Amino acid sequence: MRRLALALALLAGTALGAGCDLLAPAAPRPAVETTAAQRVPPATAPAGAKPQQPAPTTAAPSAQPATPAAEATPAAPARATPAPAAQRQAATLSGPRLKVVATFSILGDLVRTVGGERLDLRVLVGPESDTHTFEPSPADVAALAEATLVFENGLGFEPWLDKLYASARSRARRVIVTVGLPSPIPATDGDHGGGDKPDRDQAEQSAHGEFDPHVWHDAQNAMHMVRAIRDALAQADPANAATYRANAERYLAELEALDAWIIQRVATLPAARRKLVTAHDTFAYFARRYGFAIVGTALGSFTTETADPSAARIVELVREIRAAGVPAIFAENVSNPRLMQRIAAEAGVALVPDLYTDALGKPNSPGDTYVKVIRSNVEKIVTALSR
Ligand SMILES: [Zn+2]
Repeated sequence: MRRLALALALLAGTALGAGCDLLAPAAPRPAVETTAAQRVPPATAPAGAKPQQPAPTTAAPSAQPATPAAEATPAAPARATPAPAAQRQAATLSGPRLKVVATFSILGDLVRTVGGERLDLRVLVGPESDTHTFEPSPADVAALAEATLVFENGLGFEPWLDKLYASARSRARRVIVTVGLPSPIPATDGDHGGGDKPDRDQAEQSAHGEFDPHVWHDAQNAMHMVRAIRDALAQADPANAATYRANAERYLAELEALDAWIIQRVATLPAARRKLVTAHDTFAYFARRYGFAIVGTALGSFTTETADPSAARIVELVREIRAAGVPAIFAENVSNPRLMQRIAAEAGVALVPDLYTDALGKPNSPGDTYVKVIRSNVEKIVTALSR
């Protein structure tokens, strides 16, 4: 139920009370004693228990909504100016670099693109790593303790963050980049695979967030995230606001073009073939914007934390895959592929390896930026389902 309250609080743009933990580190409030929080390894506890700074006498910084995004930002024509030029320019500007944390690699890429050389950026959950099951390290505690801003996805994607933030006694402003998102998909409402609904336990749903957190698979949502990042950076570092705005304007044009490219590329695939089967429920936003149906997912969950499905559930999914007539199903870079290999073999369909779902690929891979992630995924999906 706490997740529900959290999600609602995030959507309402209300402040979270994480900062009050700073006043009573020895007696954490119940909110941090969740299953997710217990995954924080013991190594982080000493750092959290050792006073590193006096308790603030005023209300500590807590989660704040990002400055409302400028929804009416027009689609500017793509510019020929390469991003590195802007970054070189930014590097010449005055002032110390802003210490910033981003929770996971895809969000980190958006932050890096908007902030460029002005930022001292640390990404907590790196490429090819799973945010749902992340276990923070002492180095992550230190990064949060020093940060001015923490960019987070929200919508229950980072179940470990409240505890980490409290352990670090962080005073960073928490910027939830999905605040104000026009239409987040409710966990109980979206069609995340007809057949797996009977298996999905209501308690499990509410335990993992009332809304689907995987917003970035819709390029328009990524633009919303970029506007939130731009506004937060400009507010935290006004001396360089013009640089952040220029970088964001250029990036927003690129993302608008990316969105148009996806629509154009998907249009080459007959509507009846736009059917996805993946490991976990990560493509609802992609499906909604670009006209796909989710046949089913192996885990039947918004998170990868869940246990492997039962034999009966696998039999059911195999039947759904055959009935849908899809030629291929998709593995993810953040999930163990063995389950999907087994399902593909039993269904007699191809398995397309490693869509970039919840994380970037490694540096110099075809998925080492957000834009490349989306392009790679769309190419793989359209190609595999065209056969
Ligand atoms: Zn996920």
